[in-house]
Amino acid sequence: MEIFQQMTGMGHERVLFCSSPEVGLQAIIAVHSTVLGPGLGGVRMRPYESVDEALTDVLRLSRGMTYKAAAAGLNLGGGKAVIIGDPARDKSEAMLRAFGRYVESLGGLYITAEDSGTGMEDMEVILQETRWVTGVSPAHGGGGDPSPVTAFGVLQGIKAAVKWHLDSDSLTGRAVAIQGLGNVGYHLASYLKKEGAKVFGADTRKEMTERASSEVGVEIVPPDEILKVECDVVAPCAFGAILNDKSIPELRCKVVAGAANNQLEDEERHGRALHERGILYAPDFVINAGGLINVYNELTGYNRDRAMRMAQGIYGNMMRIFETARAQSVPTYVAADRVAEQRVDQLNGMRAMQWSRMIRNLRN
Ligand code: NAD
Repeated sequence: MEIFQQMTGMGHERVLFCSSPEVGLQAIIAVHSTVLGPGLGGVRMRPYESVDEALTDVLRLSRGMTYKAAAAGLNLGGGKAVIIGDPARDKSEAMLRAFGRYVESLGGLYITAEDSGTGMEDMEVILQETRWVTGVSPAHGGGGDPSPVTAFGVLQGIKAAVKWHLDSDSLTGRAVAIQGLGNVGYHLASYLKKEGAKVFGADTRKEMTERASSEVGVEIVPPDEILKVECDVVAPCAFGAILNDKSIPELRCKVVAGAANNQLEDEERHGRALHERGILYAPDFVINAGGLINVYNELTGYNRDRAMRMAQGIYGNMMRIFETARAQSVPTYVAADRVAEQRVDQLNGMRAMQWSRMIRNLRN
């Protein structure tokens, strides 16, 4: 009973419990919405403490994908999957293939991808059982490393935020502080440097700071100082929940715009705290949609130029959020949800027509 209440409360269409004890598979696939298209989202593998914990995670994450795809203007719904187990110990070819069969059984309502605990090689195993999988290597028609596309999208979001808040989208002479110089942070630093920005960066791994400093000219600061740098933009590109009671009062920037997922520790409290401090927040799921745009492109025959072009659209997507926030007198994190919900509502009536045409074209 409780599951149905949860599904109704959050608006999920389907939840599939997958059990194949002979290969040690316990998984849950959640399809939140297929209004805009198939529910695409990664499969996360973790040693969850309980089925309840796994269920809560997959319901929350799949709903998040609906919002992300909607705000990005993609013909995708929201879905996500979790496999209960330790990826280092419990993963096997047979388990992944069994999972692939469950994905196949949904006939394209859910499309899987990599997430924490799964990677490109795993997607290629799953590909043996279903075509509803993305994040495979270029050799299999995949898009390869998504982080340059994600970083390019973040750059567009930064430009939009600077234009909106500081009145010019030129980044020449602007100071940007990047937390995390990994896959996305490194590429973002390169793009920013080419735009003439002054780039500060921090990472807990020495090899990452050395690479960014010697190859891109990033000015390195200690990890516990990066959010306190006096600058125009702070770009969180390391991990989530970084905008919280401790960090927000210490910020000395005008804009927060970066790639990390779930940056606000408590969406309402900390989204509002930034708003009250006059710091413009570029909602994470809008600015970091480049990764999703990249895998979306695999469905129609991957083309990096097209993926980059679509990521450029993040500038306009972000502007729409800022305009909505101003028009409705709400913080940007609220406006982002409203823009996404409005697109789903408006296209709801067109679902059958749009879907049937798209599904014929996908991966054929
Ligand atoms: P990554 O693991 O390659 O890079 C993260 C970097 O942050 C690492 O180098 C790590 O050492 C560093 N780091 C960890 N703790 C730190 C700290 N306290 N201070 C400074 N640096 C620290 O990950 P990524 O692929 O670059 O992704 C970065 C973020 O963006 C993640 O939150 C990810 O979920 C999100 N994201 C990534 C993509 C993508 O295409 N890769 C797409 C969407 C969202």
